[in-house]
Amino acid sequence: MGTARWEQRDGNSEMGTARQARPVKEPKDGHLRTQALGKLQKRREERTWSLPRLESPSVNPRQAPSQARATVRRIESAPTGLSQAGDPGMPTEPPIEALSAAEALAAAQEILPWVCEIRRDFHQHPELGLEEHRTSARVQALLREMGVEFETGFGGTGVLGLIPGSGQVSAERKADGQVPTVALRADLDALPIQDAKDVPYKSKIPGKMHACGHDVHTAILLGTARLLSGWRERFPGLVKLLFQPAEETVGGAKFLIAGGALENPKVEAVFGLHVDSELEVGRFAFHFGQRNASSDTVRLILNGRSCHAAYPAGGVDAIVMAAQVVSALQAVVSRNVDARDSAVVSFGTIHGGTQGNIMADRVELTGTVRILDTRIRQRVLQRIRETAEGIASALGGSAEVEIEPGYDALVNDDGMVKLVQENARVLVGQDSIVVRERPNMGVEDFAYYLNHAPGAFFSLGVRNEERGIVHGEHQEGFDVDEACMAYGVAIQVLNASRFLQLGR
Ligand SMILES: [Zn+2]
Ligand SMILES: [Zn+2]
Repeated sequence: MGTARWEQRDGNSEMGTARQARPVKEPKDGHLRTQALGKLQKRREERTWSLPRLESPSVNPRQAPSQARATVRRIESAPTGLSQAGDPGMPTEPPIEALSAAEALAAAQEILPWVCEIRRDFHQHPELGLEEHRTSARVQALLREMGVEFETGFGGTGVLGLIPGSGQVSAERKADGQVPTVALRADLDALPIQDAKDVPYKSKIPGKMHACGHDVHTAILLGTARLLSGWRERFPGLVKLLFQPAEETVGGAKFLIAGGALENPKVEAVFGLHVDSELEVGRFAFHFGQRNASSDTVRLILNGRSCHAAYPAGGVDAIVMAAQVVSALQAVVSRNVDARDSAVVSFGTIHGGTQGNIMADRVELTGTVRILDTRIRQRVLQRIRETAEGIASALGGSAEVEIEPGYDALVNDDGMVKLVQENARVLVGQDSIVVRERPNMGVEDFAYYLNHAPGAFFSLGVRNEERGIVHGEHQEGFDVDEACMAYGVAIQVLNASRFLQLGR
């Protein structure tokens, strides 16, 4: 791995020579030369503005105002959630070089068939955490075809893509001496769930399924890469693309961080999205501050002494011990956590004993602890340990308490959430934006990136009740309305380009 150093240059921000993009190659016959792309090519030629072309990542003439209006009109007539893109309430667009929301969305819609094709390929070939070899190879092949440089080897399957912009660095950005750098993230892994959908693109791998939408995230990031690599002169600095393994299992974000993906140059902001089955397609949801809980796994072993169950005074009953420990641990939540804070202590397994008339000498429990406020995390874990040990000891036995730290709580940077929210507003209109007051107790390893750089993790609507797309994440019927991917691509293009141009 090892990232080479970048230096900020004056003027056109010619980036460090070690990392110049490779010469643009004509894509070979194969994946990209699809019928869909052929149609897109034809449509592109008919249009007055041009889509970033794979053949020429730096070609995209700026829109004249009349062309921009034509694009807005086209968006106004498009279905689902697009009607407000041309809202007269749209804020003043940044300087002339900045990408407009209308441009980004129109281009994202143009490449949607290509993005869908990629997503369906991933969907049919799901791979579990740290086994994403095929997926990683596809990502690398597509980046290569786009002329996007990348590094590999992060946790085995992680990929870091690099798209330097050639746009002018603003005076303010130049003053801080840092190469403007932003990171966008996708996760590659699937889940051990049998796909129960009846669709042509259902999983071909028994017992494995993209039931959390990571196929969608990866396809969106590839679509974003395609647009940004064709619009390099429209933004300064550097876009880093984080394709990480194992979000669902071991926190694959840590491999990219340990491999230096956020350094040299240092990432100043990081943006990630997650599909949301409760949110209609064409909508976005945001959390300011805390979005997800932390998680820790607890394993308790309660040791007693076996005897005939008819004569309990002759032993130490590990089952009675377990019953009291489980009840008492609920009091950790109700009596050691401030009523205004949130914590969950749940046990999912309990095993012990051999027969009804033999007193159990050992009971093992495993559970999970979810906490929103990082300040109380250590206190809750400490109270769990003390409570289990104290009760076991009082009953004449002993407790072994193992706590395996899980993911950190995910805390968004409010300034970055505002930036993304504003981009969403110009894309889909105020009425299609939801701000969620309450964080959720699920976990997400995007939290680790936020320990190193401010950023925002937000939700992308994928639900479509009319089409029966209503199943939740991690369910065997889970699917998305693929139109969501145009919004996902458009907003990430805007997040990256606008951050690089304007800073926070
Ligand atoms: Zn998941
Ligand atoms: Zn997920």
